[in-house]
Amino acid sequence: MKPVGSGRYSTGQKRCQVCEIFLKWDGLWCPCCGYRLRTRPRNLKYKAKLRTRKKIDEYRISVQQQEQQQTAVQTHKKPAKIH
Ligand SMILES: [Zn+2]
Repeated sequence: MKPVGSGRYSTGQKRCQVCEIFLKWDGLWCPCCGYRLRTRPRNLKYKAKLRTRKKIDEYRISVQQQEQQQTAVQTHKKPAKIH
């Protein structure tokens, strides 16, 4: 295990678990293998982005849950509108 909070994330670098490297990369996905990059943003502007991303994740989870419920019920109803 590498130490957490070693400071490398604070320089804007992100870690790819697959390639096992730190990248200076703006995207969320590894340009090398396409896997989701891990970040530890400390800047406020990054926190705002992170909050937005969290909302997106919550949205995705709610969609997944609804899909699972629909699959479990096995009805042919149209999916409910998601706001
Ligand atoms: Zn990678």
